[in-house]
Amino acid sequence: MFKKILVANRGEIALRVQRACRELGVKAVMVYSEADRDAKYVRLADEAVCIGPAPSSQSYLNMPAIISAAEVTDSEAIHPGYGFLSENADFAERVEKSGFQFIGPTPESIRIMGDKVSAKQAMIKAGVPCVPGSEGELPDDAATLKRIAKSVGYPVIIKAAGGGGGRGMRVVHTEAALLAAVQMTKAEAGAAFGNPAVYMEKYLQNPRHIEIQIIADKHRNVVYLGERDCSMQRRHQKVIEEAPAPGIPRRLIERIGERCVAACKKIGYRGAGTFEFLYENGEFYFIEMNTRVQVEHPVTEWVTGVDIVRTQIMVAAGEKLPFTQRQIQMRGHAIECRVNAEDPFKFTPSPGRVTTWHMPGGPGVRVDSHVYNNYFVPPNYDSMIGKIIVHGDTREQAIARMQTALAETAIEGISSNVPLHRELMVDANFIAGGTNIHYLEKWLSDHKR
Ligand code: ADP
Repeated sequence: MFKKILVANRGEIALRVQRACRELGVKAVMVYSEADRDAKYVRLADEAVCIGPAPSSQSYLNMPAIISAAEVTDSEAIHPGYGFLSENADFAERVEKSGFQFIGPTPESIRIMGDKVSAKQAMIKAGVPCVPGSEGELPDDAATLKRIAKSVGYPVIIKAAGGGGGRGMRVVHTEAALLAAVQMTKAEAGAAFGNPAVYMEKYLQNPRHIEIQIIADKHRNVVYLGERDCSMQRRHQKVIEEAPAPGIPRRLIERIGERCVAACKKIGYRGAGTFEFLYENGEFYFIEMNTRVQVEHPVTEWVTGVDIVRTQIMVAAGEKLPFTQRQIQMRGHAIECRVNAEDPFKFTPSPGRVTTWHMPGGPGVRVDSHVYNNYFVPPNYDSMIGKIIVHGDTREQAIARMQTALAETAIEGISSNVPLHRELMVDANFIAGGTNIHYLEKWLSDHKR
């Protein structure tokens, strides 16, 4: 096992990794920007190194500063968390070339999966079902574009090969709108992701977002940890996640889970990863793979009993997976609500001083957050400031526990989306289960205020 790990991230996930390190008896080095200097998880760390000013481009995305921090602290490995440099193949490569272990897959795997066109090609080869679409990157030629769209069938969605975070996508309903949409998405993709390549998929009308968590060691052992339903989304961003996915027969999950495991073996994948699918009419369609730990990992941890972050660290240190597929059983039901510092119905970010931070507790409640009374939410980063996760024997009990947990929660000084979660947890359709990816957007437009 490592003696010391550097955590190249901030906020709740930095604290989550710090906790895993403590449990393993590993020292954790926190890096921080000037905006995070006073955060408690930084203060409480075994060691902490300032890596630059508030803007992430100069701190959490600053590769040389992070690598020198690992050097001066004698760290052996770097955990990238999610976001920031976690899916940057060049970073993983520089980490390994500098003599540190990157806690994640190989730079090569990250590179293949980071480009959604090459990811899809790899998945098709590995026998994973994908959304029908263009064979690869779209050409410029108008006639060819029209021909591809016609064979895929309208509506289609134009997606950036390098896209992420729900950005770089455009739905096209008619041939008349096709060329302009392709050009606009290309221009945006070039500006936002430094890669203008776009591809085309059939736009599925009413799918659910179902994803499979996998974990692999360096000895070719791969296990899938069941599924998560992340269909409650706004602007392609997840708001509520749960495990298992309501109403999907276990044999379908098992079948797709086994496909994911086979694909990982085929590409020599190691570490934690997630295969994201759209699910419609009993069929799964791969959309992308995330080569890192995900925000919503706690729901899987709770139903499977596997500590994903701890396992990530163990497999990076070369240990074998401490469980086999047969030992993984899904127990009960878990739900996660993402807590964002934002107006609950207008979604404008709400950074600032948190004057009251009162979090729920009791049976089956877990809170992952770095926030506390009098914490200052910096305006420089993502608005997610924590997660409330609950577990129950049944989905019904989990929902009841989430309702209670949200009722206990008090956040003052800034706005949060807790009021939105309170309303969604009593919504008849959410309670029934199995809502599709458009449900929340529609709910929001029906409940305008
Ligand atoms: P990102 O990497 O930006 O998260 P994804 O490819 O994972 O992009 O897609 C994010 C979300 O966009 C999906 O969960 C779904 O809501 C929507 N989406 C993506 N592709 C399609 C498609 N072919 N049909 C319908 N919705 C889609």
